[in-house]
Amino acid sequence: MSPGKVSTLDFEKFYNIVDGKQRSSDKVHRGINPTTGQELWDVPIASEQDLNDAVAAAKKAFPAWRDTPIEKRKELLGKFAEAFQQHSDEFTNLLCKESGKPRRFAAIEVGGVPGIIGWHNSLEIPVDKLEDDEKTVYTEYSPLGVCGAICPWNFPLVLSAGKIAPALLTGNCIIVKPSPFTPYTALKFAELATEIFPPGVLQVVGGNNELGQSLCLHPDVAKISFTGSTATGKKVMESSAKTLKRVTLELGGNDASIILPDVDVKKVAPEVVMGAFQNSGQVCVATKRIYIHESIYKEFLQEMVNFTKTVKVGNPDDGDNLLGPVQNQMQYERVKGFFADSKAQGYKFAAGEPDVAASKGYFIQPTIIDNPPNDSRIIQEEPFGPIVPTQPWSDLEEVIARANNTNSGLGACVWGKDVEKASKVARRLEAGSVFVNSWEKPTPQALFGGHKESGIGGEWGKTGLLAYCNPHVIHVYKS
Ligand code: NAD
Repeated sequence: MSPGKVSTLDFEKFYNIVDGKQRSSDKVHRGINPTTGQELWDVPIASEQDLNDAVAAAKKAFPAWRDTPIEKRKELLGKFAEAFQQHSDEFTNLLCKESGKPRRFAAIEVGGVPGIIGWHNSLEIPVDKLEDDEKTVYTEYSPLGVCGAICPWNFPLVLSAGKIAPALLTGNCIIVKPSPFTPYTALKFAELATEIFPPGVLQVVGGNNELGQSLCLHPDVAKISFTGSTATGKKVMESSAKTLKRVTLELGGNDASIILPDVDVKKVAPEVVMGAFQNSGQVCVATKRIYIHESIYKEFLQEMVNFTKTVKVGNPDDGDNLLGPVQNQMQYERVKGFFADSKAQGYKFAAGEPDVAASKGYFIQPTIIDNPPNDSRIIQEEPFGPIVPTQPWSDLEEVIARANNTNSGLGACVWGKDVEKASKVARRLEAGSVFVNSWEKPTPQALFGGHKESGIGGEWGKTGLLAYCNPHVIHVYKS
């Protein structure tokens, strides 16, 4: 595409992108707009043949792309970001329709895409040099080849971009498989890429879970970067093990937030609520368990309730809405299960018990469960919806142990006026990203990954780049 020219993209027709071309399919599927419950446009379901063709095209494109100077790859990534920005409004509209998120948050996600590409473009692939009298040893990093990116539905655009940018920068080719719940923005994003990158460098195949599995099993795919649930992550690892693929697994979380007794209650309580209910709780690093010091428990919970009651839930176009619907029916039923279980067990709904069956879309008013027992579902599992438990604590050692008493280890928060003390607590929490005096706000500048069953490896940040590379150590003897 020549500079300054705005590409024409039809935002109502969707194709897989294989070898630089649009591909339809005999089998189609339709996403559901979670705001209305109505079907959206047809999307082609890629066949095994489409997948094989995509892998073959990526394999063919790889040597030339790998050998393209990094400055040229960066130039093309920069052009891609620019072309995307020219369509920001259309991508925002599309994201509102497929995800239901309020327009201002959809616009933030769309704005994050050029941000992620731009940040990666500022990086260099490192070379370490070690020299002695006898030899020089260079530790270099070379691309892996064909990578597969399997993505979830909660941030369909930004999580795809977070895999595409480091993969292409380091000289890999990548095939994206979006979630069948939110395929639209990723398909259009890859279609836009055909105007910029050589065929086969960035492709997309829409499809169901079986297609994801086929990508993991494919012998010519060198790496899978997967973001999704822990249960699926285990399957991805199992399938990928058959060909010893590299895997990066970004999985579910059950983040604890510890509130120390010296916090400014009025200021912090609404922030903690935002950490729990951002994107209607459908965030891997949303706050999912809140531990409040007993001396301020009542007051803090009341402030949380006061703020929660002001949170408006509704369609993307009402500017006052802070939350949209739950993204899909399966998730809606799952989240409703946590409401039903909490009710059946007689737990206290501190912010009221919403009528979850009242609307056509998948809307749920957020609520807080006051002090359920440690073995309750709402403490033990990740609801991935707008419901969060609080519990009091009195002994710091005990609450750290309680926060760590989980197989998850994605994120965590500590809130306290004494930043040094809060930071000391943060360092003892078993999680990949811990936030002091903020709710969870991962940034592409820092590595993002989970401990324990929240993942393997990580992406983003300088170190994340290396997840798309093989170390290549060259020992050069002087004579
Ligand atoms: P999911 O695991 O159901 O699906 C994710 C993707 O995997 C989809 O594209 C799906 O089609 C594909 N898939 C399903 N079965 C597969 C298989 N056997 N082999 C290969 N691919 C397969 O997850 P979801 O419901 O889309 O997303 C929600 C989950 O993702 C939550 O648990 C959330 O915490 C987690 N998540 C994690 C991060 C992170 O960075 N750690 C970010 C967002 C979401």
